[in-house]
Amino acid sequence: MEINGKTGVFGVIGNPVDHTCSPAMHNAAYKHLKLNYIYIPMFVEKTFIPDAVKAVRALNIKGINVTIPYKEYVIPYLDKLDPVAKKIGAVNTIVNKNGCLEGYNTDGNGLVISLESEAGIDLTSKSIGLLGAGGSAKSIAFSLTQKNIKKLVIYNRTFSKARKLKEDLEQNSSIEIQACGYENNDYLKELQDNDIVINTTSAGMKPDEDQLPVPDMSWVKPGHFCCDIIYKPSKTLFLKKAELSGAEILNGSGMLAGQGVLAFELFTGYKIPFHIMKNEIN
Ligand code: NAP
Repeated sequence: MEINGKTGVFGVIGNPVDHTCSPAMHNAAYKHLKLNYIYIPMFVEKTFIPDAVKAVRALNIKGINVTIPYKEYVIPYLDKLDPVAKKIGAVNTIVNKNGCLEGYNTDGNGLVISLESEAGIDLTSKSIGLLGAGGSAKSIAFSLTQKNIKKLVIYNRTFSKARKLKEDLEQNSSIEIQACGYENNDYLKELQDNDIVINTTSAGMKPDEDQLPVPDMSWVKPGHFCCDIIYKPSKTLFLKKAELSGAEILNGSGMLAGQGVLAFELFTGYKIPFHIMKNEIN
């Protein structure tokens, strides 16, 4: 790739960024479409976030992705916020439109792309259980409740967070939404009533690979679809146990590719085939 005076610059800010797949995904997309762009990782300390966002404007960086732990923290420094990102309260994509910085969130719809296009699931009328009520759960729950699903049940260790997410979602959706805590073990029986169960917690993520998001997996039956948004390891303990019980499984690499595909389109105006980005995730 030749870098010259016309090369457009993109990147990702976070802490850490050394394991991010985003540079490989976006640079592969530029290569595929022969675009004179480059995408680089940018490690930023929290105290420098206001300066880093200003630098996007000052250095005419065309767009940046935002990763852990800054998706909420960057918001006050932006000029405009997409209504969906505003409702979620987190931004993973900042587009520089002639000096105006606009924030978007493509995480939830990234998972929807993975479920629908990659796994071939029709979400219509499905009962979906969501494990977790953190940042990624918010964007996924928001996207799922914009689809024609039957019901969404949010299970979280800290019940107050599940209840708050349910209340927020109900302001924007007429889908049936329930919140459930882990106080007694009834939720384990109720989990089996879902068609799809999605782990959005960090339990099971490297290096805590022996952790499960729920203590018991005996609710899993053949016919269930279990998804984990973690992609390192590629098969979490949750997915291993679900597969052993006959469920179909999907990991989080498709969500990562999906959010990248949507960010790429916001950045460049071009569409990129899903597999071009997915192939770069290791
Ligand atoms: P977060 O905002 O910190 O939320 C963490 C959630 O996990 C909370 O609901 C927390 O429950 C729950 N949790 C943590 N440890 C748990 C345990 N041992 N047992 C049960 N619940 C537990 O994190 P996040 O940003 O949503 O990220 C969550 C995971 O998603 C991470 O592994 C991240 O790598 C992954 N992720 C993947 C993608 C992708 O593109 N595939 C995108 C974003 C995030 P409490 O409320 O009770 O603390």
